[in-house]
Amino acid sequence: MPVKTKLKKYSTQKLTPISIKEFEVGRHDFYLPLFQASTSASVQVPFIVVRGRHEGPTLGISAAVHGNELNGILIVQAILESLDPEKLHGNLLCAPVVNVPGFNLGKRYFIDDVDLNSTFPGKKGGKPSEQYAYTFRKTFLPDLDYLIDIHTASQGRLNTMYVRVDLDSPPARALAMNFNPEIVLNAKGSDRTFRAAARALGIPAITVEAGNPSVIQGKMVFQGELGIRNIMNSLNMLEDGVLAVPRRPVLCKSSEWLRTKNGGLLRVKFGLGNRVDKKQLLAELVSPFGDVLVEYHAPYAGIVIGMAANPISIPGTRYCHLGKVID
Ligand SMILES: [Zn+2]
Repeated sequence: MPVKTKLKKYSTQKLTPISIKEFEVGRHDFYLPLFQASTSASVQVPFIVVRGRHEGPTLGISAAVHGNELNGILIVQAILESLDPEKLHGNLLCAPVVNVPGFNLGKRYFIDDVDLNSTFPGKKGGKPSEQYAYTFRKTFLPDLDYLIDIHTASQGRLNTMYVRVDLDSPPARALAMNFNPEIVLNAKGSDRTFRAAARALGIPAITVEAGNPSVIQGKMVFQGELGIRNIMNSLNMLEDGVLAVPRRPVLCKSSEWLRTKNGGLLRVKFGLGNRVDKKQLLAELVSPFGDVLVEYHAPYAGIVIGMAANPISIPGTRYCHLGKVID
């Protein structure tokens, strides 16, 4: 029988931050109504709390701030699958899908076509995306000691597994190094990212860039799970040893997207994660007849962090995300 439910009054002012101490030891999956759709029904945002048996820090893991970035959701699931709360020192607070309206549409941005990761800390009474960012931040961040925010490349681009971090912050730097990615990129980041919202509250935070959008990549999920387990080990949250093979991530002080200057088709001469020398040939641009119109060379020695998936070029097209390596 259809039931007519009485609509609860929605207000961003009635915020209840997730408080770990209110949960029993164990895993708790739940939704919170943080926003309202145009059907007047509430937008239910999924959260997972794992309260550990033993004392320790609370680690936050968020994914899909951009609604089409899926690898992070699977990374959260992989971590939870193997976690025993009885052996956990501390707690996990996970938000596997931050941008629920974007995820429901399979798209990167929030429903008002705004980049949610350029909207934090959000604004009470602001644009739809600002209100959502405000409510989400106030709900998710207050109880965290650390934050790992998982992303992928944006549409049409391919990424290595790399971490963005403010290298001047020792606890954030330690998170990045212990994640053990291929590349660690020094990036303070704009003040409007979710990572910056955590940083403003004194919560050390990193952004993990795990592969490509709109796909699930087993290798990225596996590496992401290992990286987070390494971080949990480094924070003494787990009782077993470090799993990943130690490797020394390549540290980059900055990076730049290289752009084409001409129209044509790109023949790319590099791959993800390749080290390149200064002046090394990176790509040839060819006409529809196959003539090489121009060659593009590396402006500095570096490492390829990301690249365009699509070889079609018009002037200004980004084709190579090149990191400047710290020697
Ligand atoms: Zn993203």
